[in-house]
Parts: sequence; C-alpha cells; structure tokens
Amino acid sequence: MTPVAALERVVHCLDRAHDTGFKAKAFVRALDVVRSLPADEVAARAAAGTLTELDGIGESSAAVIQQALAGGDVEYLADLEARTQVPLSEAGAVYREALRGDLHLHSRWSDGGASIEAMALTAIGLGHDYMVVTDHSPRLTVAHGLDAERLARQVHDVAELNERLAPFRILTGIEVDILEDGTLDHPDDVLAGLDVVIASVHSKLRMAEQPMTERMVRAVANPHVDILGHCTGRMIGKRDPSAFDPDYVFAACAQFHTAVEINCRPERLDPPRPLLALAIEYGCYFAIDTDAHATGQLEWLPKGCDRAAETGVPLDRVLNSWSVDDLLAWVAGG
Ligand SMILES: [Zn+2]
Ligand SMILES: [Zn+2]
Repeated sequence: MTPVAALERVVHCLDRAHDTGFKAKAFVRALDVVRSLPADEVAARAAAGTLTELDGIGESSAAVIQQALAGGDVEYLADLEARTQVPLSEAGAVYREALRGDLHLHSRWSDGGASIEAMALTAIGLGHDYMVVTDHSPRLTVAHGLDAERLARQVHDVAELNERLAPFRILTGIEVDILEDGTLDHPDDVLAGLDVVIASVHSKLRMAEQPMTERMVRAVANPHVDILGHCTGRMIGKRDPSAFDPDYVFAACAQFHTAVEINCRPERLDPPRPLLALAIEYGCYFAIDTDAHATGQLEWLPKGCDRAAETGVPLDRVLNSWSVDDLLAWVAGG
C-alpha cells in the first residue's frame, strides 16, 4: 500500500463513521501534504524519521505513512476498518442486497470532497452497477452550485469517464433547488438533458404550511423532476422538519411519478418513519440514497435500508433496486 492509498483509506473510513472531528481534518490535511510531495521524498523522510517536520504531518499520520511503506499492517487503519463498519440489520440486508446503484451524491464540482472518478471507483467497489451524479444547482452558491455551462462540461466529463469505467454507468443528474414559488433553479431545457433530476428544498425551510405545500407540489408535478430529495429538510437535533401537508405532497408524488427519497445521511434520515409509512400508503416510489459528499459516505445505504425494512417499503417500488435500463425507462416515462 502506498502512503497516499493508506491515508485515502483512513479518510474514507473516518467519513463512513461520519467523524468530522479534529482527527479527521488532520488526516485530510496529511493526505494533501503527501499527495503534493514526490514519493521518494516521502520515503526518504520516513526512513530518516523526519516526516513530522512537515507542516500538516503529525504522529498518527507519520505512523500510517511509515507502516504503509514498510509493507506490513497499518495498525491505525486496521483498527479503523474494524470499528467504522456501517451496521445493517438482518431485515435491512434484504434491501441492501437488492440495491444496484446510488441516485444522489455530490462531487468536487459542487460541495463534495472527491472527484466523480473517485466516487465511481468507490461505488464499483461497493458492487454498484451505476450511480447518478447530482451536484447542486446555482442558487446554492455556498455549495458552488453548477450553472448550465458548468453542468454541460460535467456531462461531457461523465461521458469520457463512462468510456473508461464501462460496464459501470455514471448517469447525469442534478439536485436542483426548489425555489420559493415551487419553480426550479434550472430551466426545463437544461433539466431535460439530464438522466435523473432530484428536487430539494434548501432555503426558506420555515415557510408556513400552506405555501410550503404548494411549493413542493408544484416542484413534484414538474415533468422533469424524478425524485423529491430529503422532503422535510430536518437536521436531527438541530433543525425541525418543515411544515407541509404530506397528504397533498405524497399524493402528488404518486400521481406525477416522482419518487420519495429515503435519505441515508445520519443527520437527516428523512422522511421520518410516520411520513415514510404515509408515502407507502399513497403508492409512492422510493429511492434509497446516500447523498454522499465523500467516498466513505457512499457506504451509508444500510441506514436507509434499515428504515425501509422497518416501515415495510415494497422493494419493487425502490428505483435503485432496478437495472439501469428499467430505471432510465421509468424516469423517461415519469
Ligand atoms: Zn440537499
Ligand atoms: Zn444532496
């Protein structure tokens, strides 16, 4: 294992454990430092015991680098591998085994931490057949949302990656903002050019119930929208769910062929169970999505699978349990 590969794997494991503390940041920094140096300089410093003289390399990262170069076990990494496994219930495993892709994830093009290629290689390692790149739309300036021009460049890059990574498929997509009036942050012709469109509320989450319901229904009814992202916008322990009438919203999702996302992020786990149960009653389709912003977060599908199992989501209504052809046919017909 090279020092870069070892540090990348450490960062991956810390990400899947949702560790955003000091240690995780230190390893990201160490990885940047090692990536920027010639391999022989790293090896020479490891041999001379001078790695920690480098700004950004501490005792822990130096030990990882030294052990990786020595070719034996990297102790810190072995320990992390064991204790950061994402738990999965027996019932949830039935769903997890059926999933063939991930329909919601971010790359460095917006606010993700990894390249599309790194996300794809991780997805392949997880056994996925496909993934959809759904970076943010321009309104979300804090997340470097993509305007039409950058989106077109991304679509071009994805085509090139698909040639190299086949038979794995990267589908094009976006997580488009639902604006206050329920219109979307990209015109229809831009959305029409993408394989999968997720629409999400990211602003004015505290709107009164009636306008919020109208706002969401209007977005759900847009023929280009395939998935309603993290519908309540809640952040567990930090932000309450938005107020909207779920009967109208889920009835609209069922009628207009817009799937309800089961968002796997540990701080979201959205929708909450009672709403998920209601969406099942309305006959909605679902997408179990990680909303990953880093490679390690692509391992979060079990969190949504467990909830799907607990609430009895019909597996045949989960879009990403389908083949890529069935998925594309469904979104095109939506
Ligand atoms: Zn979002
Ligand atoms: Zn997202």
